[in-house]
Amino acid sequence: PVPVIAIDGPSASGKGTVAARVAEALGFHYLDSGSLYRLVALAALKAGLAESDPRVVDIARHLPAAFEAGVVRLSGEDVTDAIRSEACSVMASKVAARSEVRDALLDRQRAYRRPPGLVAEGRDMGSVVFPDAGTKVFLTASVEARAERRYKQLMEKGLPANIDSLSQDLRERDERDASRPVAPLKKLPDATELETSEMTVDQAVSFVLDLVGA
Ligand code: C5P
Repeated sequence: PVPVIAIDGPSASGKGTVAARVAEALGFHYLDSGSLYRLVALAALKAGLAESDPRVVDIARHLPAAFEAGVVRLSGEDVTDAIRSEACSVMASKVAARSEVRDALLDRQRAYRRPPGLVAEGRDMGSVVFPDAGTKVFLTASVEARAERRYKQLMEKGLPANIDSLSQDLRERDERDASRPVAPLKKLPDATELETSEMTVDQAVSFVLDLVGA
């Protein structure tokens, strides 16, 4: 089977950056599964739908999404920055708590598994989407370190940011992601934990590459 490196962890843990860098180093494909939930959330917000609306499942099933060279598109529109807003983050974790939405995105995610390999990051890459992944990493960092990172990301993009409300949102989102009945975020017994609060991106990337023996 095509090798998969599953990197799961909470929001803003740095798993996106680390996963993208590992994929680049290995020449593997890269799946940012969170962006799919974010796209569903953005489309739902644009349509003025509540997370519980049945039409949100249709959106997930027929998501007109495209990824190319770091640009994320929804029905052709560049939404790369829009899907990273706090409003969209909150809505993403709400739509992601619905099992029909998760099921609707399953095939799309699995289609990323193509030779020579895949680095997939999210919450349930090792548990649900690619349970047979040869390498599973649980990447974490403290709430403080993560709030700081998200703050910097938002500032760099010129988006409004407040460190206290970011910490609060992260705590609430962690709680919702960990306590939901479907695909709760947790460290799997067969995953290697990597705590990155005090680590540079380079160190975390090296750790994962060592783990896969690259
Ligand atoms: O990783 P990111 O913060 O971009 O994900 C946004 C939201 O999407 C998360 O808060 C989580 O609720 C949801 N998500 C998920 N399963 C994944 C990836 C993301 O439930 N595999």
